[in-house]
Amino acid sequence: MTIEPRGARDDPPSVAHFDVLIVGAGLSGIDAAHHLQTLCPSRTYVILEQRERIGGTWDLFRYPGIRSDSDMFTMGYSFRPWTMPKAISPGQDIREYITATASEEGIDRHIRFGHAVTRASWSSETARWTVEGSRRTPEGREEPVTLTCGFLLSCAGYYRYSAGYTPGFPGLERFEGRVVHPQAWPDALDYAGKRVVVVGSGATAVTLVPAMARTAGHVTMLQRSPTWVVSMPEEDAIANRLRAVLPATWAYRLSRWKNVAYMTFMYQLARRSPGFVKKGLLSQAAAHLGPGVDVATHFTPRYNPWEQRVCLVPDADLFVALREGRASVVTDHVATFTEKGIALRSGRELEADVVVTATGLVMQPLGGIELAVDGRPVDLGGRLSYKGVMLSGVPNLAAVFGYVNASWTLKADLICAWVCRLLNVMERKGARQVTPTSRDVEAAAPFVEHFSSGYVQRALARLPKQGRKSPWRVYQNYFRDLLALRWSRIDDGALVFSSPEAPVPGISREAAKAVGSELPRRRVKGGETP
Ligand SMILES: Cc1cc2nc3c(=O)[nH]c(=O)nc-3n(C[C@H](O)[C@H](O)[C@H](O)COP(=O)(O)OP(=O)(O)OC[C@H]3O[C@@H](n4cnc5c(N)ncnc54)[C@H](O)[C@@H]3O)c2cc1C
Repeated sequence: MTIEPRGARDDPPSVAHFDVLIVGAGLSGIDAAHHLQTLCPSRTYVILEQRERIGGTWDLFRYPGIRSDSDMFTMGYSFRPWTMPKAISPGQDIREYITATASEEGIDRHIRFGHAVTRASWSSETARWTVEGSRRTPEGREEPVTLTCGFLLSCAGYYRYSAGYTPGFPGLERFEGRVVHPQAWPDALDYAGKRVVVVGSGATAVTLVPAMARTAGHVTMLQRSPTWVVSMPEEDAIANRLRAVLPATWAYRLSRWKNVAYMTFMYQLARRSPGFVKKGLLSQAAAHLGPGVDVATHFTPRYNPWEQRVCLVPDADLFVALREGRASVVTDHVATFTEKGIALRSGRELEADVVVTATGLVMQPLGGIELAVDGRPVDLGGRLSYKGVMLSGVPNLAAVFGYVNASWTLKADLICAWVCRLLNVMERKGARQVTPTSRDVEAAAPFVEHFSSGYVQRALARLPKQGRKSPWRVYQNYFRDLLALRWSRIDDGALVFSSPEAPVPGISREAAKAVGSELPRRRVKGGETP
């Protein structure tokens, strides 16, 4: 069943100020709205979404076989059981899960579709963000739009929507076949019986290869270097058994904790005993692939497991396609595209009718929104991240950025609940402004550590940095984040609470600038810093 969202698209945009403005109606934006409705019911909010539909990633990506590569018991919301039989889920079921959440909770009525946010400017005089962008009218025209809000919550994901990443391949224009990027999959692409080359070795490539191999003449996965691949059952037998005997909520909670514990254990094991984990992954691959595929050349990466995301394949589908000869893998470099296909550095040529460039994403923090605080532009790369949620010196702004080594939603849930706690503390204190203030804390590490994936490395300079100690650390660990976000005091001394009515006694404009923040106004009771 496909649930069509109602949306606020056709409502006249008469209301122009909201307590909270959420950017993005994907998995995280709907999560944030649920938490606001539940934990801060008196706050008004709106969601601005540049596209015409709910779902973000799970609506945008339409390539064959699109599915999750983490289990849905940890990728589902904490508050809504995942009840479908497949734990590694097709994209369409994820899209419907998000859309059903929005529609059943009345969240869709708060969404303004076709609204792209381009700029947000904070004023300490009014303690408000002025959010600017463009709106697509029902007639298809673009017109400027401006709203204001007390708190800005970015749920804009982590990559550029307009186009994926394609390296500058020499000779691409000579190729006479079809070139497609998975981020912009053409509706009517017919590849039945054709020769397909998928360039890449990440999660998208390992999904596409077995899915396309079902009808294509032959699919070749062309990778520069191998990636760690692990096979997991598509269905989680324990979770399905639990669901048969327990109420849905209990079964879901138990399965979620089981999988959080398992994922955390596997990640820690990979970091501490990489040799042991490597051996296990290689013997699994060899057992599935049989003697016809050279595991040492094609499935033994140079880096340790979890230095990049380990690719998960359900029920060994990639290995089965390779073993059965419907697909093959080539580890080599593109020398140049030719009229007929791809010439490789080794001298070999791969002929193709269709080339799929599964070469990744362009990371884009905060949906590409330009930020300014009191007229000064904010350079994200020069800021410290507070708990992986806010930015030093930038008031009333939070952003959802999930885990790179576990399901995104685990962190999204924690962040959304934390933001609601923060809003409630602000209300109790009568504070309209809250600013993470780093003082003399120094940048000690990039936003994402120990992770060598290309899309992350290409973006690190444009991402905020992290400090040495909490609350300036960005954890990739759910248990640490439970402590940092769920069980910690909001008023931890690093957050300065203020309101615009009067200047703050004892803080000079120069001192405020020195900590990289705008001038906080009147400090509010309980908001004193040590
Ligand atoms: C192919 C693929 C597979 C993935 N698989 C998994 C997985 O298995 N497990 C996992 O945990 N994670 C996975 N991820 C990460 C994935 O992005 C998250 O699971 C999740 O979808 C993130 O949700 P989000 O709402 O934060 O961001 P998104 O899904 O990216 O949604 C962001 C929304 O914000 C909107 N938006 C962005 N900028 C603006 C703007 N300036 N103005 C207005 N609207 C804007 C977008 O249109 C979009 O609707 C995958 C990612 C990709 C690309």
